[in-house]
Amino acid sequence: MKRCLISLFAPIALVACGAPDYQAPAPVEANAASIGEEVLANRLAEAIRIPTVSRKDVPDHNAEAFATFRAWMETTYPRTFATLEATEMGHGSVWLTLPGRDTALAPAVFLAHQDVVPVEPGTEDGWTYPAFDGTIADGYVWGRGAIDMKGHLVTLLTAMETLLEEGYEPVRTLHLGLTHDEEVGGLGAQAMAAWLEARGERAWFVLDEGGSMVLDMPLTDAPAALVGVAEKGFLTVEVTARARGGHSSSPPDRTAVGLLGRAIVQIEEHPFEMSLEGGPVGEMLMALSGDMDGMQGLAASHPGIFGGLIVNAMKEDDAPRAMLGTTIAPTVITGGVVENVLPQEARALINLRLHPRTDADAAIDHLRSAVADLEGVTVEPWSAWSDAPPVAATQGPAWDLIAGAAASHAPEGTPVAPMLLVATTDSRAFAGVAENLYRYSPARIEMDDLSRIHGTDERMRTSNLPLMVSYFRTVLAGAGDTGAPN
Ligand SMILES: [Zn+2]
Repeated sequence: MKRCLISLFAPIALVACGAPDYQAPAPVEANAASIGEEVLANRLAEAIRIPTVSRKDVPDHNAEAFATFRAWMETTYPRTFATLEATEMGHGSVWLTLPGRDTALAPAVFLAHQDVVPVEPGTEDGWTYPAFDGTIADGYVWGRGAIDMKGHLVTLLTAMETLLEEGYEPVRTLHLGLTHDEEVGGLGAQAMAAWLEARGERAWFVLDEGGSMVLDMPLTDAPAALVGVAEKGFLTVEVTARARGGHSSSPPDRTAVGLLGRAIVQIEEHPFEMSLEGGPVGEMLMALSGDMDGMQGLAASHPGIFGGLIVNAMKEDDAPRAMLGTTIAPTVITGGVVENVLPQEARALINLRLHPRTDADAAIDHLRSAVADLEGVTVEPWSAWSDAPPVAATQGPAWDLIAGAAASHAPEGTPVAPMLLVATTDSRAFAGVAENLYRYSPARIEMDDLSRIHGTDERMRTSNLPLMVSYFRTVLAGAGDTGAPN
């Protein structure tokens, strides 16, 4: 955003002011036979057939499926598992290390989770092909995990396997972190980050899922390669309202239930600031502005001037609004047990998604100030929270490699735009031990297919798979071979 403020005083440089640039590396193509579309589609189908469903608070849930998946990976990627040092983490995560020749260089980390979410009970019949059959039909591999994220995992491992077959020996140490519990808490990723921390190491970058090559970006109705450079933090607070109990026939002016209702209303009417500051949304709009029409494109390319207008337009809809600030979502409310007894306490849970510019402490202060005039109301953190990780750089060698390779694996002329994820990924565990966290998969995906993630009829276009292998080969080889300042 700094670069855009400067542009206010240099109107001639406006159009180019802050759209992030990059030096694109040449794709590192593999021998086509070893990464043909059919071979890869079969491999992804096999991976989908092993139902690695994880479950919260049950660390060894489905241990058999994860053991089968591990054995399948070892058989399918023999060189990778023979060459890289494997460290077990938790109940099924595996941390693979390919030591570089220069151990003074910061390592690069590539994450992919093995686990998938279950099929929602009662929706099984809605699937065109059963969720765990791994059916290949109509140009797609169908099944749970096709996009989230076995397609990514299978092609990342294929990229490593083919590089090793060619005698690849990196200068920089590379780690592959294959986690088993991303969907239910991410202890595997935390153990991996702790492993680095215990050695006093700091990664150059982490590449995880989260952004993709969207073919029909709603803002522009055109393709856009969206690289996640930021994601939101997570905080749930408990709001408690206390008042006198007793018989409901002679209630006080303010009951606990009434007080709680008032507190929730006041919190909702005291929203967090919505702006383009402190996140990548301004840069994203600039990168996409070339594909927007007339006034919209002009405004998007000049957020330093039209920021207020842009924010007002984005606030109209829930999804864009979530990118502009910390959101407030009351999700659970409890109080009282029978109709004629006044409860002494009523409680609500409010889930916040923290924008990178608001940390958990500031968010709690904000909520407390919203209810400061209500006697008997308290606001306390309810469970573990995580601040949003720092926003990754949109310039410099790591960005060049990841964004540049995104450009060279996207349709000609596709803009590469930095993006804020409103969901969370495993990568956040590395906030304290990595310079930059990026989230990107080069799969070319329609919005309709993105909406199937965690839902019905998840599927991956088979033509994406060779492209994804080429992308990961390019980034693995580039990370292993190029020098970057530590
Ligand atoms: Zn995922």
